[in-house]
Amino acid sequence: MKIIMLGAPGAGKGTQAKKIASKYHIPHISTGDIFRSNIKNGTELGMKAKSFMDAGGLVPDEITIGMLLDRIHEADCANGYVLDGFPRTIPQAQSLTKALEDMGESVDYAVNVDVPDENIISRMSGRRACLACGATYHIVYNAPKKEGVCDVCGQQLVLRDDDKPETVKKRLDVYHEQTQPLIDYYKKAGVLAEVDGTMDMEDVFQAIVKILGA
Ligand code: AMP
Repeated sequence: MKIIMLGAPGAGKGTQAKKIASKYHIPHISTGDIFRSNIKNGTELGMKAKSFMDAGGLVPDEITIGMLLDRIHEADCANGYVLDGFPRTIPQAQSLTKALEDMGESVDYAVNVDVPDENIISRMSGRRACLACGATYHIVYNAPKKEGVCDVCGQQLVLRDDDKPETVKKRLDVYHEQTQPLIDYYKKAGVLAEVDGTMDMEDVFQAIVKILGA
């Protein structure tokens, strides 16, 4: 099963993507995580991506598309995957469609986790991330067992630079301009499914499972 998660930054699509990956035994592929891990390891790709990410903009398509297409051709993707944070632009979506067509495949579901802008800013200021293992939390909706400490690996949690309020505002502008048109793109492709992302995390997940099937 090949699934794409759509939604504004902070809509909770990353959390849902991880839950989907675990229930359906498919890899969770987050382009944001891949970039962050490259930054942490000081790779050339990471150095190229960092300035765009810190400014709340998108990493250019010519860097992002190749990286993602390489990833979905790896062996663990044979039975599908859930993409979180890709595609974010129409050219990215077109490249994915084309690459899948070349393999005689297509996306099965594009799940749009819908949350109004008003909710996003307050949500994102409560997000905390573990830069060591990639786990994410929210101080109200998904708190770690011990404040400020990652449940998974015990490292310190931080407010990511790109979750700071001024960056969030910019990211929302970028989302509306470049990523929202993908909702229409996948609607036309006949694979769009919409869920109300303002519900409890577990209710959002149940709504998604209903769409994907048990
Ligand atoms: P995320 O963790 O998905 O919120 O991504 C964090 C940041 O990584 C974004 O704000 C972008 O700067 C960059 N990024 C992640 N995925 C993409 C993508 N598909 N295209 C361009 N930039 C991306």
